[in-house]
Amino acid sequence: MPVYEFRCKVCSEITSELRKMGDFTPPDCASCGSTETEKLFSLFAGGGSDCAGCSSASHKGG
Ligand SMILES: [Zn+2]
Repeated sequence: MPVYEFRCKVCSEITSELRKMGDFTPPDCASCGSTETEKLFSLFAGGGSDCAGCSSASHKGG
């Protein structure tokens, strides 16, 4: 199962939770107990290229 990260909107604490795939239900903040948490989308470690909208025709996987 993937680990999702949520950031508290009150104290900015990051809470990591092991979740089922696609389960983005925000947890309570582990630091202050607030329910005002938002999903963080982890970025895959890349090579260094920051080009997200390049016109390179590369379609792999799926
Ligand atoms: Zn908090």
